Amino acid sequence: MINFDTYSFAGKKAIVRVDFNVPLNSDFKVTDDTRIVGAASTIKKITSDGGSAILMSHLGRPKGGPEDKFSLRHIVAHLSKVLGQEVLFASDCIGAPAKEMAAALKPGQVLLLENLRFYKEEEKGDEAFAKALASLADVYVNDAFGTAHRAHASTTIVAKFFEGKSMFGYLINGELKAMDKVLNSTDKPVTAVMGGAKVSDKILIMENLLSSVNNLIIGGGMTYTFIKAQGGSIGKSICEEDKLDLALDILAKAKAKGVNVYLPIDAVNADAFDANANTQICEANQTPDGWMGLDVGPKTVELFSKVIEESKIILWNGPMGVFEMDKFAKGTTEVALAVARATEKGAFSLVGGGDSVAAVNKNKLSDKISYVSTGGGAMLEYMEGKELPGIKAIRR
Ligand code: AMP
Repeated sequence: MINFDTYSFAGKKAIVRVDFNVPLNSDFKVTDDTRIVGAASTIKKITSDGGSAILMSHLGRPKGGPEDKFSLRHIVAHLSKVLGQEVLFASDCIGAPAKEMAAALKPGQVLLLENLRFYKEEEKGDEAFAKALASLADVYVNDAFGTAHRAHASTTIVAKFFEGKSMFGYLINGELKAMDKVLNSTDKPVTAVMGGAKVSDKILIMENLLSSVNNLIIGGGMTYTFIKAQGGSIGKSICEEDKLDLALDILAKAKAKGVNVYLPIDAVNADAFDANANTQICEANQTPDGWMGLDVGPKTVELFSKVIEESKIILWNGPMGVFEMDKFAKGTTEVALAVARATEKGAFSLVGGGDSVAAVNKNKLSDKISYVSTGGGAMLEYMEGKELPGIKAIRR
């Protein structure tokens, strides 16, 4: 595997898998350019070395053929502005337009290819399609962490055609470093804060983390599967009846490994799943009939915040409550603030997953977190201990 940072791209054409799957408004203007800005340093490293960059990405979910609303040409102007240079655009990602424009590229130039998913071969991981992409360049750089868990043509298969000539860009390297820091830390205590709706989505990551963490904080809707499994009353709170044994199993494994598990001690209960519901605070394992727990309560916030602030390494994935409704957002906001305070005191913090990242951004805390992951599903799978196809293809 080549080290991206020390490699010289002078005179080389690099094909770079980026994640430019950005939101567009009805005028096809980019409304959130986090992903474009995130890829800029990788692109600039290539061009400032005297190489040229051929960028490939998907956008949206086209049905297997070209659709103007999913054309990457909509982002060319914005990308040019972010990079501070003109970006060329090829109206097809393979075939004559791409070939001719790639062949004519001069050192320092940037070419963006049309949406990869206009070909169903992309998601199928088709070899011939990957080979056609590979034929455009001398070296391959993967910097799309969000799709690294997919064995698509541009994320995985294409690496076959760059034996000894493939590498990760700054973004993927940063993600891997952050995740490995949590999984293999010698700094202690290590705390994982897990939230979200379902135990079933988080069971594998929780199991894998038991070998790395000292503290496991559990919040969000999945709390109630744990509480019911332990004999508590959960009213009409969300619960996965078929996961009760699994919840007990996790608690037993945690105990065997000496991991402290912190479950909510009180909760904000509501009489309906509604932004204007009546609310009351009760002990988390004594939810009255007809009520449901939609956020962690004040005593829980105090407990979780204390554990978080005493930690040296923190991983946070998943909201503590139904944070989309203001009445039930406090627990999630308070956890975000506690992670930020811990980071200020010198802890390393990694936040991943769409909802936790949204909570961090909503509270304007992103620069107070050590690393905010760009890949929800990919991060979960990596932290579950799985080998991601896009990572394996290059590390091999
Ligand atoms: P996930 O995608 O598994 O991380 O779950 C995120 C979702 O969990 C968010 O949409 C939250 O609204 C939801 N959630 C969090 N806490 C609760 C709860 N106590 N009851 C129902 N849903 C919840």
